[in-house]
Amino acid sequence: MNAPAGDADGRFLIGIDIGGTAIKLGRYRPGARELEAFRSLPTGASRPVDEVLRDIEEAGLALAQEATGAAIGVGVGIPGTLTRDGRIDVLPNFAPGWRGLAVAERLGEACDLPGVVVNDAHAFILAEARLGAAAGARSAFGVTLGTGVGGGLVLDGRLHLGATGNAGQFGHHVYDAHGPRCGCGSHGCIETYASAPALVASVMRPFVQGAVPALVELAEGRWEAVTPALIARAAEGGDPICCEALERCAFVLGVGLADVTTLSAPECIVIGGGMAGLGEALLAPLRRTLVAYARTAEVHLPAVLPAALGAQAGALGAALYASDTLRISVPDETERP
Ligand SMILES: [Zn+2]
Repeated sequence: MNAPAGDADGRFLIGIDIGGTAIKLGRYRPGARELEAFRSLPTGASRPVDEVLRDIEEAGLALAQEATGAAIGVGVGIPGTLTRDGRIDVLPNFAPGWRGLAVAERLGEACDLPGVVVNDAHAFILAEARLGAAAGARSAFGVTLGTGVGGGLVLDGRLHLGATGNAGQFGHHVYDAHGPRCGCGSHGCIETYASAPALVASVMRPFVQGAVPALVELAEGRWEAVTPALIARAAEGGDPICCEALERCAFVLGVGLADVTTLSAPECIVIGGGMAGLGEALLAPLRRTLVAYARTAEVHLPAVLPAALGAQAGALGAALYASDTLRISVPDETERP
């Protein structure tokens, strides 16, 4: 067994990250640096709730039964908002029927274990702040850039949930109150400018008009093949419209993060999610904007870092959050900064 250094008694938690396209899960032994037996299965998010849950229950049970030691809890990350009592409130991009579901309780019962639920961006930054890009920092803000834009804040080493349990929803931080309507009901949210679909949509007209020949070539003339990565490649090759689209996306993120910095002064900002793969093409202009607008934090601007934990971050963070919530002692707690 490929067991990382961890709990001497062999206790472990199961971390589950329910994503729109894949469900990722693995075992977490308190004190370990990564998940063990990490795996993923397709979500099939348009399927009925019970079908999806049955798949997760089976995968969770298999993880629990095939290991040495005792399973002691389940942490579940979901790409949506939660009520204070741990029920799903809004879960976009999934079939109806998830609302009101006490998903962690349900999955926990299936494995006969206590279950804890957490927003996936919260899980992401908790993992990155403890064991990833921001390891060692007392405070860190995390942003996940993908189909949606998520966020979360770790303060003094703990996840900050706020009065609602949903603090740090960076994607719905308003950039321009007169901007386009957002899925949340507000206007001009960061997500309407800086998510992957928003970036792609921003080059649609020039694509159709043939004004971005490099991008048309990279996408082999197919609009549906356009991705943020292709836009970044066209920008790298000098396409002015693609450069501008990326700059604008980075600018909106940078202004939003300047607000975050002014209000909460985190030591680090960690950028994850699919669009973090754009690397410096996105991060360099984002940092310039942060420097220009976070004037009160000039003395100590947060480092803006790409995520370090990759695909494991969500499931690992869900397990860490469950470990915190269930007050499970961690062998190397004293070594934590
Ligand atoms: Zn919004």
